[in-house]
This record gives sequence, structure tokens and C-alpha cells, in this order.
Amino acid sequence: MILEQTGKICDGLYATGHYSIPAFLLTSPAPVLFDAGVAAMGPHYLKDLEMYLGKADALRYLLLTHSHYDHCGAAPFLKDKIPGLQIGADAHAAEVLQRPGAVKLIRALNDNFVEVFKGTIGIEKIPFGPIAVDLILKDGDELDCGGGWTVQVIETPGHTNDCLSYYIPKIKALIAGEAVGVFHNDGIQPEFSSSYSDYMTSLEKVAALDVEILALAHKGVLTGDDPGIFLKNSIETTVSFKGRIEDYLDRFSGDREKVVETILGEDYDETILMQQDKKSFLLNLQAQVRVVAEGK
Ligand SMILES: [Zn+2]
Repeated sequence: MILEQTGKICDGLYATGHYSIPAFLLTSPAPVLFDAGVAAMGPHYLKDLEMYLGKADALRYLLLTHSHYDHCGAAPFLKDKIPGLQIGADAHAAEVLQRPGAVKLIRALNDNFVEVFKGTIGIEKIPFGPIAVDLILKDGDELDCGGGWTVQVIETPGHTNDCLSYYIPKIKALIAGEAVGVFHNDGIQPEFSSSYSDYMTSLEKVAALDVEILALAHKGVLTGDDPGIFLKNSIETTVSFKGRIEDYLDRFSGDREKVVETILGEDYDETILMQQDKKSFLLNLQAQVRVVAEGK
């Protein structure tokens, strides 16, 4: 089954904010929020935290899947509102989120998001700033959240080199960030922006887990048999997308810009509402063409 809205996923797990850029909440005795969407969604997440936890400052942990603008955007806002909040991320993400150039880019992409979507979601600009990561997480770490709830950390690089996924054994749920691809044009969009080979290794690693709930980075939570089907299809789609880029690189004698332009024209339909904004889609596509051209 595919859940395409926010709200309860199962006892203990909720999608908050907006289904296209959700933050997932685990209501264990030490509550955990996975990802923080875009900056402008901060007040929406806060409202949902109040609804599900009684008071927002009961939130103990914010665990980030990676350092992209639409996953860490509201972290500074939430940390400001909830001073005791512990933010966890990969070591490289912790460094990126303090770097002035990266912070400036993340702020610009967050502002651009508001320009594109303010009419459809009803959001206002909230300034993004550097994030101090309290917990440096690595593969195999396990967080005890009380009441029999644990969260296991799985390193899943390939989309970025700082991607982490989180597995909750009690409900067999995987919070995958963008490590497994996202829905796009009725199919799956591969997301190997930093390394194809790392991305495939990560996909195979999580496909071997017993997953009954798969929380995607955008637009949906899969349950029942669908997580297994999605992960299998994601592996196949990733292999064929790489092949498609290679074919175009051959056809255009290695002209990467021409390849990007061609795939953008074929895959990005401007008329579809609530999809990834064009600027971010383009940045990801350029990175994927570079990865394939350079054999990473
Ligand atoms: Zn991303």
C-alpha cells in the first residue's frame, strides 16, 4: 500500500508537515524526528509535534538523512524552538552544515523553494543558518529511545557521501532518505548524485533488510509487500538510467551539457504540480551525468 498523505503510519510512527517533504516522527519515550524538510515548513512541523507529543519540546532527537536543503532546512528553526534537541548526522554532513558556502547555497535553495511553492503549500520564508550537529552517527550505531524502541544507523552513501538511513526494528520500518530513489513521472527516479557504485551497494544493503514500512524522502510511505517491490524496481531503474546516460554520452560524443538538456526535456514535465522544483532536479541530473561520465 502507498500512503500519500501525512498522519499516522502505524502505532508510534507519523508523517508530519507535507507529504511531498515530510519529516517522520517516532513517538517513543525519547521521541525522534527524522529529517527536517525545508526551512519554511518549520512552523508546520512544530504544530504537528505539539499534536502528537503534547508539547513540541518533548522531542529529544532530530536525525538527518543527509545535508541537502530539503532534508535539513528546518533544523535551525527547530533547534531554536527546542533548545534541548540533539541533532544527529553523519560526520561529513556535520562539517558541511557549518561551511559558509554550503550554508549560503542551502539558504538560497530554501528561499527558491518558497518562491516556487508558496501558492500551493502556504509557506513563508524562514532564514536558514549553520547547524551544530550534536551526535556524529556512523554505520552500526544504535539509539535506545526507551520502551523497547531502538533506531539503527545504516550508512547508505551514493546520493551524497553523507547519506544515512535509519531502521526501526520494532516496526520493521526503514527511513531511507534519498538512498533508494523517489517517485517521479509514475516511475522511480534514481538519485546517485555522488557515486553510482556506492548508490548500488547502498540499495542492495537496504534491500536485504526485512522492511514492512518504507518511508521515502518525498511523496509516499510504502507498506506491506510494496517496500520489497519498490527496492527491487529501484535497483533495476538505476541500472537502466545509467545505461541511458551512457548511450547519450556516446551519441553526443561526451557532451555532458547536451545529455543533461536532452534528459531534462524528456523527464521534466513543467505542468506537473508538487514535484521537485526544476532547479534542484537540474542540479541532481547534472551530478548524475558527471558521475557516469567520470565512472564514479
Ligand atoms: Zn538529497
